[in-house]
Amino acid sequence: MECILFDLDNTLYSAGLEVFRLIDRRINGYMIEVVGIPQDEVDDLRRSYWKSYGVTMQGLMRHHGVDPEDYLSYVHDVNLEGLLRPDPELLQSLQSLPLRKAVFTNSSLDHSERVLAALGLSGAFEEIFDIRVAGYLPKPYPEPYHVVLDRMGVSACRCIMVDDAQENLRTAKDLGMGTILVGEKAPEPWIDVAVPEAVGVPRVLGYWA
Ligand SMILES: [Mg+2]
Repeated sequence: MECILFDLDNTLYSAGLEVFRLIDRRINGYMIEVVGIPQDEVDDLRRSYWKSYGVTMQGLMRHHGVDPEDYLSYVHDVNLEGLLRPDPELLQSLQSLPLRKAVFTNSSLDHSERVLAALGLSGAFEEIFDIRVAGYLPKPYPEPYHVVLDRMGVSACRCIMVDDAQENLRTAKDLGMGTILVGEKAPEPWIDVAVPEAVGVPRVLGYWA
C-alpha cells in the first residue's frame, strides 16, 4: 500500500461529539429558511435525496436550483469551539503511518481546514479533497474516487479508504481499494477491517502486509 485516504466528519473525530448534528440542523434550517420548504416536508425530502443522491445537497441542486457554494457555506457555519480540541494521540498515530495521507470528504475545504486546525492536525495530510472535486458529486458515487486517485497519482489497489460510512467503503472496494471502517465491525464483505476510532488505524495495517 502506498496511500491512505481519510474521511473527515465522524471519522477523524468521534460521532458522539455533536459536530455533525450541528451541521445537520443547519441543513434543515437552510431548507426551511432559504429554500422555503415547509418544515413538515423536510425530513421526508432529506431521506429521499439521501437515498437517490447520497447527500441532501444534490437533491436541492437538482430540484430546487440551489447554489452549491451558498449551501456549503451556510451549512458548515457552525461554531466548533468547545466541541473539538487538539488530539495529539491521533496526530502521532497518523504520523506513524508509513503511507501518503489525504482527506477525502463530502464536506467543504473550509470546514475541513477548520476541523483539522481544531484537532491540531493541520499539516498532517498532503491534500484535502472536498465535495467540489467531481462537480459536487459526493461519495459514494465513483466519480470523486476516480478524481482523487488520479490527482494522487496512485492506483486503487495501492490505496486504503478509511470512513465511518459503510456505503462509502463499498465504492472504494468496488474500485479495488482496501477498506477500514471506523465503527463497529460490520459483516459486509466490502469492509476489510474495522477500528473503533481512527487512532487505531496503525494497528490494523498488518492486514495488507
Ligand atoms: Mg463521515
